[in-house]
Amino acid sequence: MGKVIAISNQKGGVGKTTTCVNLAASMVAAKKKVLVIDLDPQGNTTTSSGIDKYFLEKTVYDLLVDNVPIEEVMIDNTSGGYYLVPSNSDVTACEVRLNEMFAREIKLRNAISNIKELFDYIYIDCPPSLNILTVNAMCAADSVLIPMQCEYFSLEGITSIIDIIDQLSQMVNPNLKIEGILRTMYDNRNILARDISKELKAKFGEKVYRTVIPRNIKLAEAPSYLKPALQYDKNSIGAKAYMLLAVEILRKDDANNADQLNDQDQEQAPSNSANTNVEVGE
Ligand code: ATP
Ligand code: MG
Repeated sequence: MGKVIAISNQKGGVGKTTTCVNLAASMVAAKKKVLVIDLDPQGNTTTSSGIDKYFLEKTVYDLLVDNVPIEEVMIDNTSGGYYLVPSNSDVTACEVRLNEMFAREIKLRNAISNIKELFDYIYIDCPPSLNILTVNAMCAADSVLIPMQCEYFSLEGITSIIDIIDQLSQMVNPNLKIEGILRTMYDNRNILARDISKELKAKFGEKVYRTVIPRNIKLAEAPSYLKPALQYDKNSIGAKAYMLLAVEILRKDDANNADQLNDQDQEQAPSNSANTNVEVGE
């Protein structure tokens, strides 16, 4: 069954889209089958995946508002090699339309329910606000990956998104967890960044990914070439950082799956530790 991960932080410009596109491309390079859902009317994930957002037949609007089956909305010719449910400015109207609807928070959850098993990972890129689209992402997700910049107000932002995750898990999605906290645009020479990093680890421990994403010009340039960094310049520090993140996540998930299998099969068979083969493609 595919793992559904919302990539969210209500703060703007922290690297949500960059993380979504580059982590998805890295997972594809690791031979995983990946779906990306662009829930942001800015459509930056769509553009960064090599899809022209001005000429879309269908978008996430059709999926959520008109109940068009996801198979009819999904595109498979992205530059990153993953499947994509695209978005553009039409999706702005979703908010108004969804607010008139019954069970509006679980529209996305219902829309993906019968394709979840076709994918290893489903990533949802959220807009920079806590609106009904973000709530839909969090109701559909198993967990939330929070990208953040280690800046002065960022810990406050993290606390508020964690409050939202707590509230949603009490109200509509009891299994919702924090997948991990990712430090983006990280500069180890910056004393404030190092201090915040320390505080973050003290507060959230293992939830903070060991991998950090450094500030790297190739990550910023790649969207204008309509590609993830792995396809734009696979030797760049940025592309390698996201590949390392994918490896860290795969190892964690393999270990968790092995633990679960162990718990289930303890008396029947010795456990097989899962393997993670990662190849960086062209
Ligand atoms: P929004 O809240 O508007 O959706 P976002 O959280 O999705 O923004 P991004 O669009 O991923 O953030 O990143 C914001 C800007 O920072 C973009 O111009 C992007 O190219 C750049 N950027 C993101 N990560 C890095 C990085 N590690 N190094 C250099 N530039 C980066
Ligand atoms: Mg974005």
